[in-house]
Amino acid sequence: MPERTLEAEEVQRKIGRAEVIAKVAGGVVHNFNNILAVLLGRVELMLGQVESGRLDAVQLRRGLLSVQKVTRDAAELLKRLRDLTQPPLHQPFVTFDLNGVVRDAVEFIQPHVATVSQTTGARLGLTHRLTSAPTPVSGQASALREVVVNLLLNAIEAMPAGGDISVETRRDGPWVIVRVADTGVGMTGEVLSRAFIPFFTTKGAANTGLGLSSAKELVTRHGGTIAAESEPGRGTVFAIALPSVEEVSIPEGPPDAPRLPIGLEVLVVEDEAALCDVLEEFLQGSGCRVTIASSGPAGLDALARRRYDVVLADLLLPGASGWDIARAAKRHSPRPAVVLMSGKMIPEDLWADGETVDAALAKPVDLDKLARAIAEAVTRGSGGPA
Ligand code: ADP
Ligand code: MG
Repeated sequence: MPERTLEAEEVQRKIGRAEVIAKVAGGVVHNFNNILAVLLGRVELMLGQVESGRLDAVQLRRGLLSVQKVTRDAAELLKRLRDLTQPPLHQPFVTFDLNGVVRDAVEFIQPHVATVSQTTGARLGLTHRLTSAPTPVSGQASALREVVVNLLLNAIEAMPAGGDISVETRRDGPWVIVRVADTGVGMTGEVLSRAFIPFFTTKGAANTGLGLSSAKELVTRHGGTIAAESEPGRGTVFAIALPSVEEVSIPEGPPDAPRLPIGLEVLVVEDEAALCDVLEEFLQGSGCRVTIASSGPAGLDALARRRYDVVLADLLLPGASGWDIARAAKRHSPRPAVVLMSGKMIPEDLWADGETVDAALAKPVDLDKLARAIAEAVTRGSGGPA
């Protein structure tokens, strides 16, 4: 294989990734609409109960738990989509369970399988069987998920008349094996020998021929191997082997939500009114005194007028960014604790620098996490009711 520069590899990965995103977009939309349907349905049921005066605490609780669950699902779905758009090259290597990555990839692609089935009329099955043994590997979970997603897309495309895809994980000594098998058209020896070459495709202009080459590059970067066996008309099996590392330590459950010091002066700078309401109600319920500013300039204005113990700001605001708010806040003495919220992924090095920003939270913000972040920021810094 001719030598490729890192830059060329990056460009190829970008093109390949764009192709994957274009392919799965329909499935994501489908998934998201399902989530919204559950959400809306639950809310309407609960509203109906409240309005007719038939308030049943058990039913209400069930409804609210369901709302909580689907909302978390929606956040998870967006997180996966966001991971797919991010160049995993720049993410640090961490230890994680490969089973989780495989399960994520399968769940992510399931709605796409359903969509393809419905539009082509071909019956497609996708099943997975994961080993119960631990599967700890070191690397970038999002990159490996992308690899599995690519293999699944290839398998779907190899079965225009329908068929079955089975995904399996197992341990083989120091290796963790992922196997993706399909009952599709298969490959001739000639195609198989070229399948991993960048831009090689038998599918025509709509495909880039970059799925397998980038999969190989990512797997190699993880110290692993990827290989295929195939026979025309009988299907294809891809096997990935990754070196396992010491076991993932299972993190303890989250500690109880901390109590905030009573009387904290909190400035919330957020332009989404409904979110402001939730934050205000929660913080007041936790004993804080809350001021709301609904734009960047309104936030700067509020800061100029008086001092706060805590400034909670959105990152993307009309008129001034969360960083502008944070810098303005830190010019005060004593310096308030600053917590930034963002719905967009921000490179790790931009997150809480401990100087301007004490804590950073991804939206949707979990209220327990918010309380914990504020409590920690206030304890660490000088913040606290005077
Ligand atoms: P693309 O999917 O864009 O064609 P890939 O790099 O993903 O590019 O795959 C390269 C080629 O390998 C495909 O065009 C196809 O000929 C062959 N191939 C890959 N996976 C399979 C499979 N599961 N079954 C049959 N052929 C496959
Ligand atoms: Mg492909």
